[in-house]
Amino acid sequence: MATNLVASYRAPAVCSHIRIRRGGLNALGAFTRLRTGARRVALVSDARVAALHGRAARAALRHAGIDARLVLVPRGERAKSPRELARLWDRLAREALGRRDAIVALGGGVVGDLSGFTAATWLRGIPWVCVPSTLLAQVDSSVGGKTAINLDRGKNLPGAFHQPAGVLVDPDLLATLPRRALRAGLAEVVKMGMAVEGSLFRWTERHAARLLAGDPRALESVVTRAIRAKLRIVRRDEREREGGPRTALNYGHTLGHALESACGYRRIHHGEAVALGMRAAGAFSERLAGLAPAARARQEALLDALGLPRRMPAVRIERLWRALAQDKKRGAAGIRWVLTPRVGHASVPRPIERRLVQAVLIQLGARV
Ligand code: NAD
Repeated sequence: MATNLVASYRAPAVCSHIRIRRGGLNALGAFTRLRTGARRVALVSDARVAALHGRAARAALRHAGIDARLVLVPRGERAKSPRELARLWDRLAREALGRRDAIVALGGGVVGDLSGFTAATWLRGIPWVCVPSTLLAQVDSSVGGKTAINLDRGKNLPGAFHQPAGVLVDPDLLATLPRRALRAGLAEVVKMGMAVEGSLFRWTERHAARLLAGDPRALESVVTRAIRAKLRIVRRDEREREGGPRTALNYGHTLGHALESACGYRRIHHGEAVALGMRAAGAFSERLAGLAPAARARQEALLDALGLPRRMPAVRIERLWRALAQDKKRGAAGIRWVLTPRVGHASVPRPIERRLVQAVLIQLGARV
Protein backbone atom coordinates (compact mmCIF):
# COMPACT_ATOMS: atom_id res chain seq x y z
CA MET A 1 0.00 0.00 0.00
CA ALA A 2 1.20 3.50 -0.76
CA THR A 3 2.71 5.07 2.32
CA ASN A 4 3.52 8.51 1.05
CA LEU A 5 0.57 10.06 2.84
CA VAL A 6 1.42 13.18 4.78
CA ALA A 7 0.07 12.85 8.29
CA SER A 8 -2.22 15.75 9.04
CA TYR A 9 -0.89 18.17 11.57
CA ARG A 10 -2.22 17.84 15.10
CA ALA A 11 -1.72 20.89 17.23
CA PRO A 12 -0.45 20.30 20.78
CA ALA A 13 -3.08 20.22 23.55
CA VAL A 14 -2.31 23.42 25.39
CA CYS A 15 0.90 24.87 24.12
CA SER A 16 3.42 24.68 26.93
CA HIS A 17 6.35 25.30 24.63
CA ILE A 18 6.70 28.87 25.66
CA ARG A 19 10.21 30.22 25.78
CA ILE A 20 10.63 33.55 27.53
CA ARG A 21 14.08 35.03 27.06
CA ARG A 22 15.46 38.50 26.54
CA GLY A 23 17.22 38.51 23.18
CA GLY A 24 15.45 35.27 22.29
CA LEU A 25 14.54 36.47 18.78
CA ASN A 26 18.06 35.51 17.70
CA ALA A 27 17.15 31.88 18.32
CA LEU A 28 13.91 32.00 16.30
CA GLY A 29 15.29 29.73 13.56
CA ALA A 30 16.43 26.96 15.88
CA PHE A 31 13.20 27.26 17.88
CA THR A 32 11.04 27.02 14.75
CA ARG A 33 12.96 23.98 13.48
CA LEU A 34 12.72 22.33 16.85
CA ARG A 35 8.99 22.96 17.28
CA THR A 36 7.77 22.43 13.71
CA GLY A 37 10.53 20.77 11.69
CA ALA A 38 9.69 23.22 8.89
CA ARG A 39 12.26 24.34 6.34
CA ARG A 40 9.93 26.85 4.71
CA VAL A 41 7.78 29.35 6.54
CA ALA A 42 5.54 32.29 5.80
CA LEU A 43 6.71 35.04 8.15
CA VAL A 44 3.61 37.16 8.76
CA SER A 45 4.04 40.64 10.17
CA ASP A 46 2.94 44.24 9.71
CA ALA A 47 5.05 46.98 8.16
CA ARG A 48 6.05 48.62 11.43
CA VAL A 49 7.08 45.45 13.22
CA ALA A 50 8.80 44.14 10.10
CA ALA A 51 10.80 47.37 9.80
CA LEU A 52 11.87 47.16 13.44
CA HIS A 53 12.42 43.45 13.98
CA GLY A 54 11.91 41.71 10.63
CA ARG A 55 15.55 41.72 9.65
CA ALA A 56 16.65 39.98 12.88
CA ALA A 57 13.83 37.46 12.56
CA ARG A 58 14.70 36.60 8.96
CA ALA A 59 18.40 36.34 9.75
CA ALA A 60 17.65 33.94 12.61
CA LEU A 61 15.44 31.82 10.37
CA ARG A 62 17.99 31.80 7.58
CA HIS A 63 20.70 30.83 10.03
CA ALA A 64 18.75 27.66 10.84
CA GLY A 65 18.37 26.85 7.14
CA ILE A 66 14.76 28.01 6.90
CA ASP A 67 13.47 29.72 3.78
CA ALA A 68 11.23 32.53 5.08
CA ARG A 69 8.79 34.41 2.84
CA LEU A 70 7.76 37.72 4.38
CA VAL A 71 4.03 38.40 4.16
CA LEU A 72 2.88 41.84 5.28
CA VAL A 73 -0.61 42.56 6.59
CA PRO A 74 -2.05 46.01 7.37
CA ARG A 75 -1.46 47.50 10.78
CA GLY A 76 -4.18 47.50 13.39
CA GLU A 77 -7.44 45.79 14.07
CA ARG A 78 -8.75 46.10 10.50
CA ALA A 79 -6.24 43.40 9.50
CA LYS A 80 -8.41 40.87 11.35
CA SER A 81 -10.93 40.84 8.49
CA PRO A 82 -12.29 38.28 6.01
CA ARG A 83 -10.65 40.29 3.24
CA GLU A 84 -7.17 40.06 4.75
CA LEU A 85 -7.70 36.40 5.58
CA ALA A 86 -8.55 35.71 1.93
CA ARG A 87 -5.53 37.73 0.81
CA LEU A 88 -3.31 35.62 3.08
CA TRP A 89 -4.78 32.36 1.77
CA ASP A 90 -4.10 33.56 -1.75
CA ARG A 91 -0.51 34.37 -0.91
CA LEU A 92 0.00 30.96 0.73
CA ALA A 93 -1.40 29.32 -2.39
CA ARG A 94 1.05 31.25 -4.56
CA GLU A 95 3.91 30.22 -2.27
CA ALA A 96 2.59 26.62 -2.36
CA LEU A 97 2.86 26.41 1.41
CA GLY A 98 2.39 22.77 2.33
CA ARG A 99 1.72 20.69 5.38
CA ARG A 100 5.39 20.33 6.22
CA ASP A 101 5.74 24.12 6.23
CA ALA A 102 4.69 26.55 8.93
CA ILE A 103 3.55 30.07 9.64
CA VAL A 104 5.56 32.33 11.93
CA ALA A 105 3.59 35.27 13.32
CA LEU A 106 5.77 38.23 14.29
CA GLY A 107 3.67 41.02 15.76
CA GLY A 108 0.99 42.04 18.22
CA GLY A 109 -2.28 40.34 19.02
CA VAL A 110 -3.71 41.30 15.64
CA VAL A 111 -0.98 39.56 13.66
CA GLY A 112 -1.16 36.60 16.07
CA ASP A 113 -4.95 36.18 15.86
CA LEU A 114 -5.01 36.49 12.08
CA SER A 115 -1.96 34.26 11.47
CA GLY A 116 -3.19 31.64 13.91
CA PHE A 117 -6.60 31.53 12.21
CA THR A 118 -4.89 31.27 8.84
CA ALA A 119 -2.78 28.37 10.15
CA ALA A 120 -5.93 26.72 11.54
CA THR A 121 -7.69 26.86 8.20
CA TRP A 122 -4.84 26.35 5.71
CA LEU A 123 -4.86 22.75 4.46
CA ARG A 124 -7.10 21.99 7.46
CA GLY A 125 -4.42 23.06 9.89
CA ILE A 126 -0.67 23.60 9.70
CA PRO A 127 1.73 24.44 12.55
CA TRP A 128 2.45 27.99 13.55
CA VAL A 129 4.91 29.70 15.82
CA CYS A 130 3.96 32.86 17.64
CA VAL A 131 6.48 35.64 18.32
CA PRO A 132 4.47 38.26 20.22
CA SER A 133 5.89 41.77 19.95
CA THR A 134 3.47 43.84 22.06
CA LEU A 135 3.04 43.60 25.80
CA LEU A 136 -0.60 42.62 25.31
CA ALA A 137 0.39 39.76 23.04
CA GLN A 138 3.20 38.61 25.34
CA VAL A 139 1.09 38.56 28.50
CA ASP A 140 -2.16 37.34 27.01
CA SER A 141 -3.04 36.72 23.38
CA SER A 142 -0.09 34.45 22.47
CA VAL A 143 -1.06 31.94 25.16
CA GLY A 144 -4.11 29.70 24.97
CA GLY A 145 -4.61 29.00 21.28
CA LYS A 146 -7.55 31.32 20.54
CA THR A 147 -7.43 32.65 16.99
CA ALA A 148 -10.03 34.78 15.20
CA ILE A 149 -10.99 37.56 12.86
CA ASN A 150 -13.71 40.20 13.14
CA LEU A 151 -16.86 40.95 11.20
CA ASP A 152 -18.58 44.33 10.97
CA ARG A 153 -21.25 42.77 13.14
CA GLY A 154 -18.91 41.77 15.93
CA LYS A 155 -15.46 40.95 17.13
CA ASN A 156 -13.78 37.54 16.98
CA LEU A 157 -16.87 35.86 15.49
CA PRO A 158 -15.15 33.52 12.99
CA GLY A 159 -12.38 31.79 14.92
CA ALA A 160 -10.79 28.55 16.00
CA PHE A 161 -8.85 27.07 18.85
CA HIS A 162 -5.52 26.27 17.25
CA GLN A 163 -2.58 25.98 19.62
CA PRO A 164 0.73 27.29 18.32
CA ALA A 165 3.52 24.73 18.08
CA GLY A 166 5.65 27.14 20.10
CA VAL A 167 5.64 30.66 21.50
CA LEU A 168 8.87 32.64 21.59
CA VAL A 169 8.61 35.60 23.93
CA ASP A 170 11.42 38.14 23.75
CA PRO A 171 10.69 40.99 26.20
CA ASP A 172 13.42 43.08 24.52
CA LEU A 173 11.06 43.56 21.55
CA LEU A 174 9.02 45.81 23.84
CA ALA A 175 11.78 48.45 23.84
CA THR A 176 10.37 49.86 20.57
CA LEU A 177 6.73 49.77 21.64
CA PRO A 178 4.87 53.12 21.77
CA ARG A 179 3.75 54.08 25.28
CA ARG A 180 0.08 53.88 24.37
CA ALA A 181 0.47 50.24 23.33
CA LEU A 182 2.47 49.52 26.48
CA ARG A 183 -0.35 50.92 28.64
CA ALA A 184 -2.93 48.92 26.69
CA GLY A 185 -0.98 45.74 27.43
CA LEU A 186 -0.94 46.58 31.12
CA ALA A 187 -4.76 46.60 31.06
CA GLU A 188 -4.73 42.84 30.37
CA VAL A 189 -2.32 42.39 33.29
CA VAL A 190 -4.78 44.18 35.58
CA LYS A 191 -7.53 41.95 34.22
CA MET A 192 -5.56 38.82 35.01
CA GLY A 193 -4.82 40.13 38.49
CA MET A 194 -8.41 41.12 39.26
CA ALA A 195 -10.02 38.00 37.82
CA VAL A 196 -7.67 35.13 38.57
CA GLU A 197 -4.42 36.02 40.34
CA GLY A 198 -4.50 38.41 43.30
CA SER A 199 -0.72 38.22 43.77
CA LEU A 200 -0.22 39.52 40.22
CA PHE A 201 -2.55 42.43 40.98
CA ARG A 202 -0.58 43.36 44.12
CA TRP A 203 2.75 42.99 42.29
CA THR A 204 1.49 45.29 39.53
CA GLU A 205 0.38 47.88 42.10
CA ARG A 206 3.88 47.90 43.59
CA HIS A 207 5.70 48.08 40.25
CA ALA A 208 3.33 50.30 38.24
CA ALA A 209 5.86 53.12 37.84
CA ARG A 210 8.65 50.81 36.63
CA LEU A 211 6.29 49.10 34.20
CA LEU A 212 5.07 52.39 32.78
CA ALA A 213 8.65 53.56 32.36
CA GLY A 214 9.33 50.43 30.29
CA ASP A 215 11.94 49.03 32.73
CA PRO A 216 13.11 45.86 30.91
CA ARG A 217 13.46 43.79 34.09
CA ALA A 218 10.02 44.75 35.32
CA LEU A 219 8.58 43.88 31.91
CA GLU A 220 10.32 40.52 31.82
CA SER A 221 8.97 39.79 35.26
CA VAL A 222 5.38 40.80 34.50
CA VAL A 223 5.39 38.79 31.27
CA THR A 224 6.57 35.68 33.11
CA ARG A 225 4.04 36.11 35.93
CA ALA A 226 1.11 36.77 33.59
CA ILE A 227 1.92 33.85 31.30
CA ARG A 228 2.13 31.54 34.29
CA ALA A 229 -1.26 32.78 35.52
CA LYS A 230 -2.88 32.37 32.13
CA LEU A 231 -1.46 28.88 31.59
CA ARG A 232 -2.79 27.79 34.95
CA ILE A 233 -6.31 28.70 33.82
CA VAL A 234 -6.10 27.54 30.22
CA ARG A 235 -4.76 24.12 31.18
CA ARG A 236 -7.91 23.54 33.23
CA ASP A 237 -10.30 24.74 30.57
CA GLU A 238 -8.76 24.88 27.11
CA ARG A 239 -12.04 25.33 25.21
CA GLU A 240 -13.66 27.80 27.57
CA ARG A 241 -16.64 25.67 28.48
CA GLU A 242 -19.71 27.46 29.76
CA GLY A 243 -19.05 28.66 33.29
CA GLY A 244 -15.52 27.11 33.21
CA PRO A 245 -12.42 28.78 34.70
CA ARG A 246 -11.40 30.35 31.37
CA THR A 247 -14.54 32.50 31.26
CA ALA A 248 -12.97 34.54 34.10
CA LEU A 249 -10.48 35.91 31.57
CA ASN A 250 -13.35 37.69 29.84
CA TYR A 251 -13.53 40.11 32.77
CA GLY A 252 -13.89 43.57 31.21
CA HIS A 253 -14.31 42.11 27.73
CA THR A 254 -18.10 42.18 27.32
CA LEU A 255 -18.15 45.95 27.19
CA GLY A 256 -14.59 46.07 25.81
CA HIS A 257 -15.46 44.15 22.64
CA ALA A 258 -18.73 46.04 22.18
CA LEU A 259 -16.92 49.35 22.47
CA GLU A 260 -14.31 48.37 19.88
CA SER A 261 -17.03 47.24 17.52
CA ALA A 262 -19.15 50.39 18.12
CA CYS A 263 -16.07 52.50 17.36
CA GLY A 264 -15.58 50.65 14.05
CA TYR A 265 -12.30 49.10 15.34
CA ARG A 266 -10.68 52.54 15.19
CA ARG A 267 -10.12 55.28 17.78
CA ILE A 268 -9.73 52.91 20.71
CA HIS A 269 -7.14 50.26 21.42
CA HIS A 270 -8.24 46.80 22.58
CA GLY A 271 -6.53 47.20 25.98
CA GLU A 272 -8.10 50.64 26.50
CA ALA A 273 -11.54 49.22 25.74
CA VAL A 274 -10.90 46.41 28.22
CA ALA A 275 -9.86 48.97 30.86
CA LEU A 276 -13.21 50.75 30.43
CA GLY A 277 -14.93 47.37 30.51
CA MET A 278 -13.26 46.64 33.85
CA ARG A 279 -14.35 49.98 35.26
CA ALA A 280 -17.93 49.04 34.35
CA ALA A 281 -17.54 45.48 35.67
CA GLY A 282 -16.10 46.91 38.90
CA ALA A 283 -19.19 49.06 39.37
CA PHE A 284 -21.48 46.07 38.72
CA SER A 285 -19.40 43.88 41.03
CA GLU A 286 -19.73 46.35 43.88
CA ARG A 287 -23.51 46.48 43.44
CA LEU A 288 -24.16 42.81 42.75
CA ALA A 289 -21.24 40.57 43.71
CA GLY A 290 -20.16 41.97 47.06
CA LEU A 291 -16.93 43.55 45.84
CA ALA A 292 -15.78 45.81 48.69
CA PRO A 293 -15.75 49.52 47.77
CA ALA A 294 -12.08 49.64 48.84
CA ALA A 295 -11.21 46.82 46.42
CA ARG A 296 -13.00 48.57 43.58
CA ALA A 297 -11.15 51.77 44.48
CA ARG A 298 -7.85 49.85 44.21
CA GLN A 299 -8.76 48.71 40.72
CA GLU A 300 -9.68 52.28 39.74
CA ALA A 301 -6.44 53.63 41.23
CA LEU A 302 -4.30 51.06 39.43
CA LEU A 303 -5.98 51.74 36.07
CA ASP A 304 -5.45 55.47 36.68
CA ALA A 305 -1.81 54.96 37.67
CA LEU A 306 -1.24 53.05 34.43
CA GLY A 307 -2.69 55.92 32.42
CA LEU A 308 -5.70 53.95 31.18
CA PRO A 309 -8.82 55.87 30.10
CA ARG A 310 -11.63 56.85 32.46
CA ARG A 311 -14.06 57.82 29.73
CA MET A 312 -14.96 56.26 26.42
CA PRO A 313 -14.60 58.08 23.08
CA ALA A 314 -17.78 59.75 21.78
CA VAL A 315 -20.12 56.85 20.99
CA ARG A 316 -23.91 56.70 21.09
CA ILE A 317 -25.45 54.38 23.59
CA GLU A 318 -27.70 52.67 21.01
CA ARG A 319 -24.62 51.64 19.06
CA LEU A 320 -23.22 50.09 22.21
CA TRP A 321 -26.45 48.20 22.86
CA ARG A 322 -26.43 46.90 19.30
CA ALA A 323 -22.83 45.76 19.67
CA LEU A 324 -23.53 44.18 23.06
CA ALA A 325 -26.41 42.25 21.53
CA GLN A 326 -23.89 40.61 19.14
CA ASP A 327 -21.72 39.33 21.99
CA LYS A 328 -20.87 35.76 21.09
CA LYS A 329 -20.98 34.73 24.72
CA ARG A 330 -24.52 35.87 25.33
CA GLY A 331 -26.76 33.13 26.66
CA ALA A 332 -30.50 32.60 26.49
CA ALA A 333 -30.94 35.05 29.35
CA GLY A 334 -29.10 37.79 27.45
CA ILE A 335 -25.75 39.51 27.76
CA ARG A 336 -23.68 38.06 30.58
CA TRP A 337 -21.00 39.80 32.56
CA VAL A 338 -18.02 38.44 34.47
CA LEU A 339 -17.98 40.00 37.95
CA THR A 340 -15.40 39.88 40.74
CA PRO A 341 -16.42 39.35 44.37
CA ARG A 342 -12.84 40.10 45.45
CA VAL A 343 -9.44 40.76 43.96
CA GLY A 344 -8.13 37.62 42.24
CA HIS A 345 -11.51 35.89 41.88
CA ALA A 346 -14.26 35.96 39.30
CA SER A 347 -17.80 34.65 39.42
CA VAL A 348 -19.75 32.79 36.75
CA PRO A 349 -20.95 35.28 34.09
CA ARG A 350 -24.46 36.54 34.73
CA PRO A 351 -27.04 38.84 33.17
CA ILE A 352 -27.47 42.34 34.61
CA GLU A 353 -30.56 44.50 34.62
CA ARG A 354 -30.57 46.85 31.65
CA ARG A 355 -31.20 49.97 33.74
CA LEU A 356 -28.03 49.48 35.77
CA VAL A 357 -25.93 48.83 32.67
CA GLN A 358 -27.35 51.94 31.02
CA ALA A 359 -26.52 54.12 34.05
CA VAL A 360 -22.91 52.88 34.18
CA LEU A 361 -22.41 53.32 30.43
CA ILE A 362 -23.56 56.92 30.74
CA GLN A 363 -21.21 57.50 33.68
CA LEU A 364 -18.37 56.24 31.48
CA GLY A 365 -19.27 58.77 28.80
CA ALA A 366 -21.68 57.03 26.42
CA ARG A 367 -23.88 59.59 24.60
CA VAL A 368 -27.61 59.34 25.10
P1 NAD B 1 -1.85 45.24 17.67
O1 NAD B 1 -1.53 43.87 17.29
O2 NAD B 1 -2.77 46.02 16.83
O3 NAD B 1 -0.49 46.05 17.83
C1 NAD B 1 -0.55 47.42 18.15
C2 NAD B 1 0.42 48.24 17.32
O4 NAD B 1 1.73 48.06 17.81
C3 NAD B 1 0.47 47.90 15.84
O5 NAD B 1 0.34 49.09 15.11
C4 NAD B 1 1.86 47.31 15.63
O6 NAD B 1 2.40 47.67 14.39
C5 NAD B 1 2.64 47.93 16.74
N1 NAD B 1 3.73 47.12 17.26
C6 NAD B 1 3.68 45.80 17.57
N2 NAD B 1 4.84 45.42 18.12
C7 NAD B 1 5.63 46.50 18.16
C8 NAD B 1 6.94 46.74 18.63
N3 NAD B 1 7.66 45.79 19.24
N4 NAD B 1 7.46 47.98 18.50
C9 NAD B 1 6.73 48.97 17.94
N5 NAD B 1 5.49 48.82 17.49
C10 NAD B 1 4.95 47.59 17.60
O7 NAD B 1 -2.46 45.29 19.15
P2 NAD B 1 -2.30 44.31 20.40
O8 NAD B 1 -2.71 45.10 21.56
O9 NAD B 1 -1.02 43.61 20.43
O10 NAD B 1 -3.41 43.17 20.12
C11 NAD B 1 -4.78 43.45 20.17
C12 NAD B 1 -5.51 42.25 19.58
O11 NAD B 1 -5.27 41.09 20.38
C13 NAD B 1 -7.01 42.44 19.50
O12 NAD B 1 -7.47 42.10 18.22
C14 NAD B 1 -7.54 41.44 20.51
O13 NAD B 1 -8.81 40.96 20.17
C15 NAD B 1 -6.50 40.37 20.46
N6 NAD B 1 -6.45 39.52 21.67
C16 NAD B 1 -6.46 38.17 21.48
C17 NAD B 1 -6.41 37.32 22.56
C18 NAD B 1 -6.36 35.83 22.35
O14 NAD B 1 -6.45 35.08 23.32
N7 NAD B 1 -6.20 35.37 21.13
C19 NAD B 1 -6.34 37.84 23.87
C20 NAD B 1 -6.31 39.23 24.03
C21 NAD B 1 -6.38 40.05 22.91
